[in-house]
Amino acid sequence: MQVIESVAAFRQAHGGAQKPLGLVPTMGFLHEGHLALVRRARAENATAAVSIFVNPTQFGPSEDFSSYPRDMDADLAKLEGAGVDLVFAPTVDEVYPAGFDTHVDVGRIGARLEGEHRAGHFQGVATVVCKLLAIVRPDRAYFGQKDAQQCLVVKRLNADLNLGAEIVVCPTVRDADGLALSSRNVYLSAAERIAALSLHGALVLARELHRAGVMDADEIRARMRRLIGEQPLASIDYISIADAQDLTELDRIDAAALVSLAVRIGKTRLIDNVIL
Ligand code: AMP
Repeated sequence: MQVIESVAAFRQAHGGAQKPLGLVPTMGFLHEGHLALVRRARAENATAAVSIFVNPTQFGPSEDFSSYPRDMDADLAKLEGAGVDLVFAPTVDEVYPAGFDTHVDVGRIGARLEGEHRAGHFQGVATVVCKLLAIVRPDRAYFGQKDAQQCLVVKRLNADLNLGAEIVVCPTVRDADGLALSSRNVYLSAAERIAALSLHGALVLARELHRAGVMDADEIRARMRRLIGEQPLASIDYISIADAQDLTELDRIDAAALVSLAVRIGKTRLIDNVIL
């Protein structure tokens, strides 16, 4: 496994790499959710590449960029164990050198949900993903359904800018009790972790109500809100039931719907979703 920090060195290593090449972009502090993407990239490509980069431009000024968990040694050991060929782990200066001044905005899809609650977030995501796809030039790039809106943003920019990668979306990996794996789960105290189960609980409730024939999105949103409201440590940022393609909020669930939510558990902001 080669670990490469500079764009120039990556380009060189890339020249000798066998195709197809699969890329898994990550911010590190790797867990089983990341590793599921890595294993899939490993299985489907001659060369498996992973990027590790905590991207400052997708964090707001009051968000957790400086405290975001990092453990490069443990990450590299996991990637080595998974049979990864190339790791691209650039510094912030390598990705954003002096004079950097180009930003990618994904219009309507980037403006809703997370975009509404985290100003500038998707501009940061879209810009860095665009750069990673330009540097690594993967045949396939792997993303997690856990970040459902991010998948839509990446698909949009990949199509609109003719970047030519196949975007592969992989299912959300959860702990046995349903909590979606996230690098940020490490912030949760024991009591907060219990409260955090309400996110998955609310999504299961939405699925059950829908299966029982409830099509009124407002009724489902209200029932989810009530369930999470029972947790004093939880405070809801948003609960959304939206068209799974364009993310417009639905009154009635008569097409594929993305049920998604962002909830603060103490100081930790968690997101999760299911498709109905
Ligand atoms: P991150 O390091 O949080 O930026 O995540 C890197 C990639 O891993 C993104 O495509 C995420 O959607 C994906 N990912 C994170 N958590 C999970 C999970 N629990 N299940 C599946 N994919 C995940």
